Amino acid sequence: MDDLYRELILDHYRNPRQKGLLSPADIDYEDDNPVCGDHIHLTIQLDENNVVKAVGWEGQGCAISQASASMLYETLVGKSLEELRSVSKEDVLEMLGITLGPVRLKCALLSLKVLKAGAYGLTAWPGEDEEE
Ligand code: ZN
Repeated sequence: MDDLYRELILDHYRNPRQKGLLSPADIDYEDDNPVCGDHIHLTIQLDENNVVKAVGWEGQGCAISQASASMLYETLVGKSLEELRSVSKEDVLEMLGITLGPVRLKCALLSLKVLKAGAYGLTAWPGEDEEE
C-alpha cells in the first residue's frame, strides 16, 4: 500500500502539475525550508467572488516537498479563499499518504505554509494596479 503512495509522489515529483507562475496574480507568495533547501513560489488568480480561477507555481527541492506542492495545488481551482485558509496539516498528510519523520514533515508542509501565508496575507494586501 505504501508503494502505491510512493509511486504517486514520484509521479508528481517527475511531472509536477500546474507548473509555471501566473502574472498578474492575486496571491503571490514564496518561502523556503532551509533545513532541506526546498523552495516554493505559489501564484493564484481569483475571480470576483474570491474563488480560485487558476494556480501556478515554481519550486525546487526534494521529492516530498515538490510532490506535496503539486498534489495540493492541483486541488485548489474552484475553492474559495475561505477554503484555502482552512486546509489543514492533516489534509496534506492524508493526501501524501505516507508516514513522515520530523525532518520530512517540514518538507511536506512547506506547500501548505506557502498557501496559508498567501491566502491570509491577501486580507491586508491592497492589491496591485497593474491588474487592470
Ligand atoms: Zn525537503
